[in-house]
Amino acid sequence: MTNQKDMKDIVALCKRRGFIFPASDIYGGINGFWDFGPLGTELKNNLRDRWWKDMVITPPIGPDGTPIEIVGVDSAIIQNPKSWEASGHIGGFNDPMVDCKESKKRYRADHIVVYMPKDGEGHYIAVDPDADEAEIEKRIKKLSGGKSIGNFETTTFDQLESEQIENVIGPDVKDAGTLTEPRQFNMMFHSYAGAAAGEENKVYLRPETCAGIFLNFKNVVDSSRVRVPFGIAQIGKAFRNEVTPRNFIFRSREFEQMELEWFCEEKDVPMWFDFWVEQRKKFWNDVGIPLSKLHFLDVPKNELAHYSSRTIDFEYQFPFSGEGYDELEGVAHRGNFDLTQHQEFSGTKLEYMDPQDNQNRFLPHVIEPSAGLSRGVLALLSEAYTVDENRPSGVYMNFTPEMAPKKAAILPLTAKEDHVPLAQKLYLELREEFVVDLDIKQNIGKRYARQDEIGTPYCFTIDNDTIADQTVTVRERNTMAQERIHMDKVADFMRDKMRKGADALKKAA
Ligand code: ATP
Repeated sequence: MTNQKDMKDIVALCKRRGFIFPASDIYGGINGFWDFGPLGTELKNNLRDRWWKDMVITPPIGPDGTPIEIVGVDSAIIQNPKSWEASGHIGGFNDPMVDCKESKKRYRADHIVVYMPKDGEGHYIAVDPDADEAEIEKRIKKLSGGKSIGNFETTTFDQLESEQIENVIGPDVKDAGTLTEPRQFNMMFHSYAGAAAGEENKVYLRPETCAGIFLNFKNVVDSSRVRVPFGIAQIGKAFRNEVTPRNFIFRSREFEQMELEWFCEEKDVPMWFDFWVEQRKKFWNDVGIPLSKLHFLDVPKNELAHYSSRTIDFEYQFPFSGEGYDELEGVAHRGNFDLTQHQEFSGTKLEYMDPQDNQNRFLPHVIEPSAGLSRGVLALLSEAYTVDENRPSGVYMNFTPEMAPKKAAILPLTAKEDHVPLAQKLYLELREEFVVDLDIKQNIGKRYARQDEIGTPYCFTIDNDTIADQTVTVRERNTMAQERIHMDKVADFMRDKMRKGADALKKAA
């Protein structure tokens, strides 16, 4: 059995079965925006709900054996513009962009890979970050007069000195000297609040959800009983005017994030950092991304954000990542940068007072696990996509029962009158607890194929035997194995499978 995963096939399945559609599809779409369809919405909600449960409803037991405390917020997308000055989003902190004078294309400087001849002779050759190995080799041979890739070392464009830039052949051209120096570009979308469209009314859509957490730090401390160490969690939309949105929902202009800000004392940072890295590993594993598929990048010191002393990126091998990996989540130590900045810009004291020791006032340090919800959905879709030539659909989606958009389908074998009422009865019973499908039309093979493609782990078929002895056939998605169980036991069967999570279903051999 082969398991070739191609982004094109995943995108096509998502559209065909109603996971994800291009936004404004009937108008030809709009670059960088996507709509979640009926099944995509369920899948996204499942991932979101699991994160919220793991963080806010049943947070983990801390290193000292007592449960930790995390509360949630849901802050406005538009905040006082001063807050973006404080966070550094207006001013510095933007992405450096490079324009090509010839191709008129615009690139992110840190995304352009540059091949530099080891012997220092000849041009530097830039390649598109999406180019595959074969394309790169071909391009390098052609532009270097036949040299092989082994004669080059790589860097990214943002690492080059000014005087080296003239010597670079841009990713989409054949001659050197067409790329500009990197320039700052603000990725925040803006609008105007109120009737007048003047500078004084200019507002921004948040580029990340964490800001709303820091802005509410004092309100939360004053209004709830939380004590350091504790966390504030938020899930919601974020907007970035990405220059080149690409790879389906991986890099879009509107997306969702799931962010936790964990406030602790500086001396405890190493302990909590390790704790959160482990928790986040467990989360991804539980929702169906095995740890063996993730790569953990301890971001080198010279690439860290200026306020961070340590960041670990969780990277996943998406179908477009080639041999490499792309970021899914980052766990960062942010120091007390954000609270310091907001305290300074707002003039409001944000120091935390130790309840045991009134003399001890401090700005807590922050560990931030920041995950993409939309990117997480793409990881789940990519991981689940399983080619299987032995079944009519040719493919099935290997979601865990917990993540699957539909947990079960109830299929009367025929649309005959005596099968349908029993199916309806089971359907009404199960849907009180689980998201389930009742599918009556078409032959049973076609219905199984459809359920395989949308990743439904269990199908319950009602046939003549059901009428005689109240048993139904259970078909398991991955193995296609069938067994009979009593109708009264179906709900228990489902509860048991849901509890077992990722272990309930094994991959077909
Ligand atoms: P990148 O380097 O890919 O632009 P980043 O390091 O700027 O990402 P963060 O600011 O750390 O990303 O955001 C945290 C998470 O938010 C990322 O790990 C990712 O999952 C998600 N994310 C960021 N930008 C986008 C986007 N344009 N589309 C979808 N998800 C995104």
